This record gives sequence, structure tokens and C-alpha cells, in this order.
Amino acid sequence: MTILEGRIKVTAPNWVPLTEIANILDYKSRWLTNRLKEWQVRQANKLEPEDRWAQGATVQFLGQSCVLKLQPHMDEVLWDAKEAALLVPSVGDPNHEQVRDRVHGFMQAQAKDILKERLDALSEKSGRGYSRFSITHARTRWGSCTQDGHIRLNWRLIQFSLAVIDYVVAHELAHLKAMDHSRSFWDEVATILPDYKAGQQGLKGVTFESVS
Ligand SMILES: [Zn+2]
Repeated sequence: MTILEGRIKVTAPNWVPLTEIANILDYKSRWLTNRLKEWQVRQANKLEPEDRWAQGATVQFLGQSCVLKLQPHMDEVLWDAKEAALLVPSVGDPNHEQVRDRVHGFMQAQAKDILKERLDALSEKSGRGYSRFSITHARTRWGSCTQDGHIRLNWRLIQFSLAVIDYVVAHELAHLKAMDHSRSFWDEVATILPDYKAGQQGLKGVTFESVS
């Protein structure tokens, strides 16, 4: 099975029944979806900034590929989940920096609320408390946690699905018990978020160069 130019190519000997191939694809669907998404993000990031932050370009928001739609008669950025679009107010012919800043501003505000919400939800559910929360703009790490329970999360996490966000939140909460990445640390992650591997998978191979 190979992925080329955003298409999946499956090759099998002709004695393998189609139903079996369908079963394998079904079994691999999460993996395939992740690989296809990575490909999509890489393609989008290859564009020049002028094309990346323009009408019709795509950005990732909460794991969804959203089309940018410039709207002259609006005051604020809106996410239309049903249409998979991000509506960006614009007057005249905005340059790509203005569009980017508006989109980033919207995402940072959303990150502040949604990441905090996920942190509180997982903290409450697992009974693991933290002392402080803040958003970071660093281009080096997705999250961090200090000995005294100050959890920092990168606003760019808002571009990923809730499964990925929850994984990073659980990861940082688990550091309250173990500051390393030992066996007992991963046990703690699994206690906080039993299905953490799904989200962990979604971050694999993602670098800070590959997010917008
Ligand atoms: Zn860690």
C-alpha cells in the first residue's frame, strides 16, 4: 500500500479477494486518514505565503481542513464546521499578512478557551490538579509542565483534532507524577486518557515547520 500525490494505491496478488482488501483498508483507515492529512498539510505549506493566506486556501482547525473564505461584511472570523470553512472578514483586497494575522488571532483566542476546557475536563475526570495554565507561542514544543504544576500548551495545537489535544493535555498532566518518560509515566498517561495512542499517532511526524 502506498500513498502518492494524495491517492492510495493498493497492490495485491490477483488471488486475494476484494473483500479481504476492503477489510485491510478498513483496519488501516485511521492510519491512512492521518497519512493523507499529513500529505495535505505538506502540500498547503509548500505554497507561497501569498497563496497560503488567500481566498480558497486551506487551513487546519480542530483537525478539519477548512477553506478560507474572505467576507467583506463581517466583523470577526467565524468557523463554519458544516461547510468546513473559515470565514475571514476583509475589506478591499487584503494582503496575506492581514489574512494570516486575522486567522492566527482567531485561532489563538479559540486555543485559550478550548485548550483550557480540555485541560479542566481531563484534570477533573482524573482527579489530577494543576496550579496554573497558560498558552505559549513557542515554536519548539507542544506543551510543558513545571514541578509546581504550571501547564503550558502551544496555541497551534488548536489546528489538531480533539484526540490530539487530549493526548498532549494528558501527557502534561502525567508529568505532575513523573517528570521523565518512564514506564510509570506512560502508565499515568493511560490512566488519565486510556485511548491516548490515537492522539499520539496524530502528532507523529508533525514538525513545527509543517504547521501554519
Ligand atoms: Zn513529556
